[in-house]
Amino acid sequence: MRRSVVILTSFLLNSTSSFYHPTNSIFRTPLTPPPTHNSLHQKQHQHQHHQHPNQQSSTKSSHHQQLRRSSSKLCAFKISSIEEMERGQDEDGHNPQFDVLICGAGPGGLLLGSHLAKGGCRVGIVDPVLDKPWPNNYGVWIDEAEPFGYMECIDRVWNEVGVIFDEDNELVLDRPYGRVDRTRLKSRLTSECTEHGVQFCNARATDLIHHDDEPSVVTIKSNGSDNNGGGGGSREGKLSAFLVVDATGFSRKFVKHQEEFDPGYQVTYGARYAVEDLGPYEGDKMILMDYSEKHLYDDEELVKSNDRFPSFVYAMPLGPNELFLEETILVSRPGGSSRNLEERLQKRMAALGIKPTKILEDERAAIPMGGADPIVPQRTLGFGATASLVHPASGYMVARAMEIAPRVASTLVPPLQRLRSKVDCGQRLSKGDLDDLAEVGWGTVWPADERRQRDFMHFGFELLCLLNPQELRDFFTGFFRLPDALWEHFLSWRLSGIGHIVMGLRVWAQCIPRRFMPTMLIKSLPFIANRLVLPFASRGALEPLDKIYWDAQSNLPERWEPAAYFKYLQELRSSEFSGTKTVEDVEKAVMAADAAEKEREETVVGK
Ligand SMILES: Cc1cc2nc3c(=O)[nH]c(=O)nc-3n(C[C@H](O)[C@H](O)[C@H](O)COP(=O)(O)OP(=O)(O)OC[C@H]3O[C@@H](n4cnc5c(N)ncnc54)[C@H](O)[C@@H]3O)c2cc1C
Repeated sequence: MRRSVVILTSFLLNSTSSFYHPTNSIFRTPLTPPPTHNSLHQKQHQHQHHQHPNQQSSTKSSHHQQLRRSSSKLCAFKISSIEEMERGQDEDGHNPQFDVLICGAGPGGLLLGSHLAKGGCRVGIVDPVLDKPWPNNYGVWIDEAEPFGYMECIDRVWNEVGVIFDEDNELVLDRPYGRVDRTRLKSRLTSECTEHGVQFCNARATDLIHHDDEPSVVTIKSNGSDNNGGGGGSREGKLSAFLVVDATGFSRKFVKHQEEFDPGYQVTYGARYAVEDLGPYEGDKMILMDYSEKHLYDDEELVKSNDRFPSFVYAMPLGPNELFLEETILVSRPGGSSRNLEERLQKRMAALGIKPTKILEDERAAIPMGGADPIVPQRTLGFGATASLVHPASGYMVARAMEIAPRVASTLVPPLQRLRSKVDCGQRLSKGDLDDLAEVGWGTVWPADERRQRDFMHFGFELLCLLNPQELRDFFTGFFRLPDALWEHFLSWRLSGIGHIVMGLRVWAQCIPRRFMPTMLIKSLPFIANRLVLPFASRGALEPLDKIYWDAQSNLPERWEPAAYFKYLQELRSSEFSGTKTVEDVEKAVMAADAAEKEREETVVGK
């Protein structure tokens, strides 16, 4: 039994879907009353009665959650001047300084850079804000990050995830979720890059010229305040490479798109609060989405804006007196207003009885979602958000970049080595060498079946942009009634193209409320041909028809079949990461990681 708690509307309870898990325990709990100590207590009490056998680990993991501290300081790494970066280029430009030059040092650029460098490539990375921490807070499903060895960069884990459809109806999912310690992840990646010889430069890429049979040339510029080790004053330089990777995030500096890039936006206002207490929230559970809206009903303007741009709150309890809340419009075109979201969040907090004592940090964001595909292939390789790796229906990407970066690097390293030996022997590159290289890269960033997956998600995204609050609730009620493996793997790019068709048909035929069927049909009609059928058909032969769970890329395909996958989730829930089992073990692991980080920092500074 995977869902420990399911509270659904009466129509759902009465429904007879064949996919509705018969052994789920069902009970009702008022989810969002103005909390009193009593109601909170009662809720916790009920919760214990319905504990999943594995939940014993939750209490244990709450200790771990408190022990895993966030690192706030970025580990130092060497930043080269533009002159240092330019060193080593031959005069006629045949022999480039770098095998690969990456523009952008977000999660995408650094993940790819570290794997290419580990494979022996000469890598340069330019970014005008290299020495600053990343601005965004990232969340991941633990089963997405753990296989790739990044658990030390997750500073909080919640074993339970709540989805709240409205004031009376909640679904609790047994899929662990974590918050990325963005500083630790950036520090780890820059350290790995440095260890493997990556050269960093605090500069902006401003121009790019591709040649048929010579390396590409990127113009970079730094301003006087950049920490480039070479004194003040604005500088410009030219760097050459066999392959240029555009990892500039949503600014998509060099990658071209098939048609005008016209994304929707996930708009958010989020803040980390110091609070008197957590109100209705519980330490071991984060809330992925809470679409309740009754707290807005006494404000006509806010109700109107919520009808046009429905928002939910995403909630992460970070400690007994710390809470991260983000009011979020899932997707909208044009984007809604984050000021309006701030107002909605304040009203929601007041209704929940949450009393903030301080705003520790806050952020406003408009994350572009969906939008036209990049041209595949093209001479500039895109990676990260630039290459449209962000999930069009959820806005997530970090874990996907963790998964894709090593495989992109492993397919690029052999041809890069061949090109390097060719120019080292004094041979000229032939016409086509560099186009072929970029094609290999794009083929791994976007294999045909994954493009098909994106087509499906993109279609779903267009529909989501048009739904009002009740329709969204109907949609998600249906979505989360799917067999768990289907929706979980949909969010993690682990369904094949065929898997998506199966999922879409099931949502339609068996999961969504009947009242929502006409709306869904009418609203999706304009996109069925151009977003779904035509792109889907253009991607070539389908993967094997018996493969629904299809993660060809991670070399772990069998793990995502439901039987193995749920066993793995149970292991994740009950084990502690990196093999530590007791609070003392975790304390030791955290201290060891801090000491290693300090040592790395001293080594890099000493170099
Ligand atoms: C507010 C927000 C919250 C998000 N939350 C999540 C989440 O919880 N989970 C998740 O998986 N995903 C999330 N995402 C989506 C996605 O993972 C992020 O956008 C992620 O940062 C994308 O990584 P990236 O490396 O592709 O681009 P970015 O992180 O945007 O990095 C791009 C880098 O390129 C640099 N750059 C820009 N122009 C140039 C130039 N001309 N030359 C050189 N460098 C340049 C920038 O300075 C920047 O450092 C979120 C996105 C946003 C905006």
